[in-house]
Amino acid sequence: MELQRRRIGVMGGTFDPIHHGHLVAASEVQSVFALDEVVFVPTGRPWQKPDQEISDPEHRYLMTVVATAANPVFTVSRADIDRPGDTYTSDTLRDLHREQPDADLFFITGADALQNILTWKNTEEIFELAHFVGVTRPGHELDTSGLPEDGVTLIEVPAMAISSTDCRTRVAAGGPVWYLVPDGVVQYINKYALYTGGDGR
Ligand code: ATP
Ligand code: MG
Repeated sequence: MELQRRRIGVMGGTFDPIHHGHLVAASEVQSVFALDEVVFVPTGRPWQKPDQEISDPEHRYLMTVVATAANPVFTVSRADIDRPGDTYTSDTLRDLHREQPDADLFFITGADALQNILTWKNTEEIFELAHFVGVTRPGHELDTSGLPEDGVTLIEVPAMAISSTDCRTRVAAGGPVWYLVPDGVVQYINKYALYTGGDGR
């Protein structure tokens, strides 16, 4: 009997906070690529966002757990937040590969991040460790020149003009984030007064 290799999606992000754009993208890729699992990996210190104030990793981790808890194929990994220093995708993928050497990894990333991929550390290695799935919104053209042709697949996800930056701005201004983020995340943000000067900043 031939054993099927497990297919695992990897959704890295700051998740400050996690929102429905992330969740719809992960769900769509899970379905299109018939993934057995999608692992959300909140970043430790993202080297791309050095000057930005970022909420405590435990808050970002717990919001991600709250947001994904109801989905049986969504899980959350502490790999990046438990690794000291800056977060590099090559480290994330290497750790996940070490944990599950017999699985095929699919790294899910938004169009914005995909366009910067060639500036990342160890680009050659990351394309060996995972297939890359770039999620784009309908009507958004993406320039993939320079990226290995068989290493990247682009798929369209339903239009979701949601960003964490906009969610933080709204909360700071006293505006609503209901329906942009899962209900439990709205409540978590309120509980710890995130983005309004509470202990999560
Ligand atoms: P910020 O505004 O702080 O940069 P963000 O909304 O871009 O936050 P990240 O945590 O930086 O969220 O993103 C994690 C991953 O999810 C990235 O690959 C990003 O491109 C992707 N992503 C973010 N927002 C969306 C969205 N609305 N639809 C699809 N993918 C998204
Ligand atoms: Mg972003």
